[in-house]
This record gives sequence, structure tokens and C-alpha cells, in this order.
Amino acid sequence: MAVITCAKCGAESPALEKPPLPGKIGLVVKERVCARCWSEWLGVQVRVINEYRLVPADPQHFDYLVGQMKQYLGLEGD
Ligand SMILES: [Zn+2]
Repeated sequence: MAVITCAKCGAESPALEKPPLPGKIGLVVKERVCARCWSEWLGVQVRVINEYRLVPADPQHFDYLVGQMKQYLGLEGD
């Protein structure tokens, strides 16, 4: 398993085995976010979806969710 320096926690940690999302953002997450921080985000994501009543299949909602994810994971600017 590859080890990366995580954009979120700053530690050298095991990377995800494959991109967790389709497209470019999935590759960015795989290269820059460790598996542990990704699983943390999955828990946060559930709360964001519930709080804002998001429908991830809706492209606008999905974009909003990706924005929140980038902010949480320290990926803004990518
Ligand atoms: Zn991390």
C-alpha cells in the first residue's frame, strides 16, 4: 500500500487503494488524503447531507458536497 503525506492530518499515512470518487477529484483525494482521514470525512459527509438535505445524485448538490469535502480535507485550490 502506498504511503502519502496527507493534506488533512499532515502525517505520512497509508493512501486509499483506489480513487473514492469518479473523475479528477477522486485522483486528487487518492494522492493527497490518507485512508483514515477519508473515512473520517465519510462520517462528516453523512451529517452534511442530512443538515442541508442534499441529494448527491443531483449535480448541483454533488458540487456543493465536493466543495465541503475540499474544505474539510484541506484540498482547496486543487
Ligand atoms: Zn490524514
